[in-house]
Parts: sequence; C-alpha cells; structure tokens
Amino acid sequence: MDESRRDAIAHERFDAVLFDMDGVLTDTASVHASAWKRMFDAFLRARAAASGERFVPFDIEADYARHVDGKPRTDGVRDFLRARGITLPEGRPDDPPQAQTVHGLGNRKDQLVNEVIATDGVRVFPGSVPLLERLRAAGIRTAVVTSSQNRARVLEAAGLGALFDVAVDGITIIERGLAGKPAPDMFLEAARALGVDPARAVVVEDALSGVEAGARGGFGLVIGVARKGNRAELAAHGAQRVVADLSELMT
Ligand SMILES: [Mg+2]
Repeated sequence: MDESRRDAIAHERFDAVLFDMDGVLTDTASVHASAWKRMFDAFLRARAAASGERFVPFDIEADYARHVDGKPRTDGVRDFLRARGITLPEGRPDDPPQAQTVHGLGNRKDQLVNEVIATDGVRVFPGSVPLLERLRAAGIRTAVVTSSQNRARVLEAAGLGALFDVAVDGITIIERGLAGKPAPDMFLEAARALGVDPARAVVVEDALSGVEAGARGGFGLVIGVARKGNRAELAAHGAQRVVADLSELMT
C-alpha cells in the first residue's frame, strides 16, 4: 500500500463512518464550552457568596474536557458538580433555566448555546463537506452520532442536513433509553440502524468521552480530531489515529 492510500478510509475495509457533530463537523464545541463556563460560573459564584467559601471558576480547558465534553447535557452537569463535591436534585426535563436542579442548570446552558447559534449561525470546518461527499460517492454510508438535542437545528443551520443516512442524537438517547458517551451505546445504535458490522465502521470524535466510546464499542477504527492540540490525551483514551482536521482523511 503506498503512502497516499494509507490515509484513506477505503471501502475494502469499511462500510460506514460515524461522525460526532460538535467539534468534528461543526465549529460549535467552543460555543458549548463557553456556555458551560458562563452557566457554571454564575452558579458557583452565587453559591460561594451564600456560603462565604472561595469562588473557584469552571476551567474551560481542564473541566470541560474531563467532565463535560461529548456527554449528554444532564450527565455533564452531574459529573462536573460531583467533581466539586456538589449534589443537586435532578428536577425535571422541563424545569425553567433558573431552577437549582440538574435539569435547570442544563436548560440554562442550552438556552445560552441557542442564543449564540441564533445570533452567529454555525460555522462548518472546511474539511467536513468534501470528506462527507467523497465517502458517500465511494458507497460508504455516513451517520451523525451526537449527544446534542439540537442536532437537527445545527445541521440545518450548517447546511449538512442531507449528508447522513442515519442520525443518533440526544433525543434518541431519551426515546430509546441509551447510555450516553463514554458508553458505546450510541455508536452501536447507529451501526445497527445502518446495518453494518461495528468492525467495518469508523468512529470520528473530538471528545475524550467519544473516542473512549468508540474504543469500547469494538469499532474497526477510532479517529480522534485534535482541535485543541490534545493528540496525546485522545490517543490515551482510545483513538488509534489522530488528525488535526478532516481534510487529512481525504486522498
Ligand atoms: Mg464533539
């Protein structure tokens, strides 16, 4: 196999590619990270003021990657608060954004993200559309697998809506009772819906929780997308190959 073929996702080896959305296809991971920080900092500041304890802000690098990125919204709230030794009542999915519950905090973060998307739109990474079009032209099927409950709206705003055979998202998690990433359930559900063997499917992810899900699911290839120079961490969590952008997967 020559050097140029080595990097290709070839149909001889793979029948499908399963893409995460935020941070892989669309430049929205940074929007999520800053919305999480605004929401958690307001919560932590008010809590510190009430108790007289020191305010320790949400760390947009370390806390986001370790506790939140790639996970369903309520898991992100719960896992970060647990790391700070804080337990809140679960509340209900329709809790208002000001409610001091896991769902309330998650809904506040969602509101902030939607405000930014409505104002600024969604930027697509330049490598995304050419790769999706090349794969589909080669007869390789494509799925989007994201914890986001806003998947349809984001893909529509990004102009990517017609490029996937299957979508598994934050609404699918609730409807089918799936475990979120880092469990492999969402990717396995996408492979099942496509009718492909996980061993002949590729997972493409930018989150530590996401590459871990791909590795745990027994997929044929797990590709990490290192948007933040975090190659080593992605590899340590299960990425077999790490690229800086999807254009590296074009041949
Ligand atoms: Mg992501």
